[in-house]
Amino acid sequence: MKNSQAAEIATSCIVCHQPILSTYYFCPNCGIKIIDTPLSTSLFTQIKLYIFSIILPMICFITIWRWQGGNYLKSKDEKTRTIGVVACLLLVISTILTIWITIITTQKIMESATAKINTEIDGF
Ligand SMILES: [Zn+2]
Repeated sequence: MKNSQAAEIATSCIVCHQPILSTYYFCPNCGIKIIDTPLSTSLFTQIKLYIFSIILPMICFITIWRWQGGNYLKSKDEKTRTIGVVACLLLVISTILTIWITIITTQKIMESATAKINTEIDGF
């Protein structure tokens, strides 16, 4: 095989093992996604991302500010305070769960990326 051909057929599909070009986003044989399609860098996409980046912390702030749990905790009435404690516990549990799910999801993405890289190296 000539060098130019070797460069063109860079790897093989991890599912159907058909030779594929390194420039392919999807396998032409089985249709599996090979590499992520590039993110758009158009002005409209940029503006959307920048606006969302500005608004997101504001949404979080407004959500926390609207949360009435703190007011319930400060109440002198015992029943109202109990409601505040329950709301606080739920907030803490939910926060821990969200962080935990984020860590698990990130690990899975890292593992699959590592596995994909290893498979590509083994393909040669
Ligand atoms: Zn394939």
